[in-house]
Amino acid sequence: MAAKAERIEQIIAEKHIECLHRGFHVWPALEYGKPPAMGDSRWTADLILSTWMQAETGQPPSNGLEYRIGKSGGGFDALGLKFLSPEHWLADDAVIDLSIPLNRRGYDRQIQIPVPFYGAGMSYGSISENVMLSRAIAAQRWKTFTCTGEGGYPGSLVAYKEHVITQIATGMFGVREETIQYAPIIEFKYAQGAKPGLGGHLLGDKATTTVAQMRESVPWVSLFSPFPFHSVYSVEDHKKHIDWVKTINPEALISVKVSTPTDIDMVAVGSYYAGAHIVQIDGSYGGTGAAPEIAKKNIAMPIEFAIPRVHRYLLQEGIRDELVVMASGGIRTAHDIAKVIALGADGAILGTTELVALGCTRCSNCERGRGCPFGLTTTDPELQRLVEPEWGAARLGKLYQSFQSELSTILRRLGLGSIRDLRGRKDLLVYRGKTGAQ
Ligand code: SF4
Repeated sequence: MAAKAERIEQIIAEKHIECLHRGFHVWPALEYGKPPAMGDSRWTADLILSTWMQAETGQPPSNGLEYRIGKSGGGFDALGLKFLSPEHWLADDAVIDLSIPLNRRGYDRQIQIPVPFYGAGMSYGSISENVMLSRAIAAQRWKTFTCTGEGGYPGSLVAYKEHVITQIATGMFGVREETIQYAPIIEFKYAQGAKPGLGGHLLGDKATTTVAQMRESVPWVSLFSPFPFHSVYSVEDHKKHIDWVKTINPEALISVKVSTPTDIDMVAVGSYYAGAHIVQIDGSYGGTGAAPEIAKKNIAMPIEFAIPRVHRYLLQEGIRDELVVMASGGIRTAHDIAKVIALGADGAILGTTELVALGCTRCSNCERGRGCPFGLTTTDPELQRLVEPEWGAARLGKLYQSFQSELSTILRRLGLGSIRDLRGRKDLLVYRGKTGAQ
């Protein structure tokens, strides 16, 4: 344990030096031997440090860091899991199945992932190519997926294409026939939970020559993805979109990413009838440090209300077992994953958590100047070199390993042998109040 603590101290010290070199000073409490003054009530210093630790060791920390919940006093932080008393736990060596199918329809390609999560869409331009590559390598090793986001498909990802989802968003940046053909899953991004109704925005400073080339645009000019798709105003329009990509890649599964409007239940049902295999419900807690707070906090429905509503409506329609529901937007920990599944999702999609595993401190500099001082949300060629793809993939793999282990422990303590048995089990959740004490 001492060695682990030393390594964490070393990481902190290294990051501290990088920050100082670049004029940032995000660790003011370090010299007093306290946790760094970073994060916020959702991503607390403990959660950030424990995610780094998991990405280092492959295990949840056992040194007292709170690695399960933050201190927001609401949402997932106010929910707990109702564990059985220890004599009813499943044995330590009990086989726990964490796999989920990504196609529940009786036709098209059958894809199953061994863990109930995959990587969220984060675009080339908003994150660096090395980060994309780290995520793709990790996805291949874990037989799960990562997603391109909307900024195009760098050539370096083609070697991992069986584990890369191609996203098509309203800006259509970098969408080409071959990037649709590469993908086992195509994701239509209709909206993003962190900024519903606002679309995407890449500032001119980050639209370098390479980014502009990939997006088939002009260097150093800000790029907007409008909201919404102006070609889609009905289920029939939605189906036309799906038919379009299925013409190019008939084998592909279709995922639809939406935010959480008050009629999210109708959106999910409409997506099903349009032909989607997966509906991704994106809540407002996610987004990089570039997402505006006013949008995050004031638009759309909290995801913990949206998921049960969708689950219930799909059950009433008799189609729950034909559509995969994935939840995203601020899912930070294995406990969050278990909670969204208990609320009614099939699995979870991870974005910011992966950036934190790679060293993100939640400092909100993603969209300033050259971008992230740690080489994550940047297109600056020098800063990008701070993330070496093999190093990044190893850290993400360790994080997945830790989540796998923690999810198995959670299921054992709930007396369940399969993650699929947790879906919609709201009776296994308990409201803990503002402290969120477990
Ligand atoms: S990705 Fe980088 S710039 Fe953005 S919040 Fe994290 S550490 Fe800060």
